[in-house]
Amino acid sequence: MSWFEENKQTLIALVEGIIVFLILFGLIVAAATFYDFSQTNIPVLTFILALVCAVFLAKSVYDIEIDKVRIKKKGEQLANKLVASSQQLFLEVYNNSPVAYLIVGEYGDIVSANTAAARLFGVSTEHLVKRDLFSFMETANEEHQSILKHKFTEGITVSDEEVKISREQDFSWTTFSIFQFSSTDGKKLTLVTFVDITKQKEIDIAKSEFVSLASHQLRTPISGMRWSAELLLMDGVESLTKQQKRYIDRLLSSIQRMSGLVDDFLQVSRFELGTRVVKEESVVLRDLFDDVVAEQVEKISVKHLHINKEYDDSITQISTDQALLRMIVTNLYVNAVKYSRVGGDVTLAYRKNGEELIIEVRDTGMGIPLGEQPRVFSKIFRASNAVREVPDGTGLGLYIVQKAVQTLQGRVTFLSAENMGTTFTVVIPTSL
Ligand code: ADP
Repeated sequence: MSWFEENKQTLIALVEGIIVFLILFGLIVAAATFYDFSQTNIPVLTFILALVCAVFLAKSVYDIEIDKVRIKKKGEQLANKLVASSQQLFLEVYNNSPVAYLIVGEYGDIVSANTAAARLFGVSTEHLVKRDLFSFMETANEEHQSILKHKFTEGITVSDEEVKISREQDFSWTTFSIFQFSSTDGKKLTLVTFVDITKQKEIDIAKSEFVSLASHQLRTPISGMRWSAELLLMDGVESLTKQQKRYIDRLLSSIQRMSGLVDDFLQVSRFELGTRVVKEESVVLRDLFDDVVAEQVEKISVKHLHINKEYDDSITQISTDQALLRMIVTNLYVNAVKYSRVGGDVTLAYRKNGEELIIEVRDTGMGIPLGEQPRVFSKIFRASNAVREVPDGTGLGLYIVQKAVQTLQGRVTFLSAENMGTTFTVVIPTSL
């Protein structure tokens, strides 16, 4: 508030006093002009008048000042009451929230913790103070832990990262979020929240276990069906009519699709349960890539696709999990073929870059609409153009690719333009 605004009332009273004085003085002068006031002592009268005005003025200024002090005091009392009640509210919410809250200092030292945090960590709130936040947290791997620490140090906001909190006897799954702020004395503090997701996690695990079991059990009857159909074709092909042969071919292709689907379910559940054991071995790249191409020859000839191979001969072998690498290349190549239009180009390339292998699968097909690209690696995602033009698909392939690439400690990216084509790039280390 400016000085003028603060003293507005006093100034108004002052101006009012001067105006009253001038009016009265004017009236006396006017009266002196009309009547004979030769006996009256004008200067004394003026002085008395000024004195009366000054007393009135002083009185109103005094009243105003007293009012001001009273209002200020009342305002301060109200503000203090408000601050106290919001502090009380904040403490109530902070302490009794079912979400675990911690306030953490600049170096990861716990400054305060609420009751839910104490329950989650299995330690009293007093015993949590000064302990290192990260000593309580377990992540999927060390890399994840160091990324979280780095974000914490740099003051980067973290939302809903999955972390495990171990207690003496048991543990909880949580989602971890951090948000940095400055205290009133300028200290850098972080609000950390943990939301317990153990129940959801248990349900997810139970679902994945069921899918894994069901897929596993389905494999045997599917193999039995395939063998029987193949035997029918091999043994009795002469006795079959054209129509019957066509039915058996259709049966075989459905069995093939069903088997692919069951395999995908099994892979997804294995990744989600974390039961996939990585087996490192020497892999001859050319053989693996050629095998993948050979498996799709029929589809390539039906669509009249041009296949280009760009193999870098300076690298012949790498040390990795062969099954996972094959899964990655197969899924990307099958997609490139599936989403290509007749007469399109598909390129399969690999090259060495330092200690990394770069794999590229390019096509000139239908591409992925820009607005849908952020969801490409989500489970059961299928782009709108793919749903329209290629009804056959589960939306699990790229999810599996991403999980497999992560398991091989690599990364996968893509560039795509609708009706122009798509390039998927996978980078994995040449040895695990
Ligand atoms: P699916 O192919 O069974 O639908 P994926 O998980 O392999 O499932 O792929 C997810 C979606 O990503 C596909 O449905 C398609 O919309 C899009 N996609 C993947 N690869 C390509 C590609 N090479 N060209 C165009 N779209 C692709």
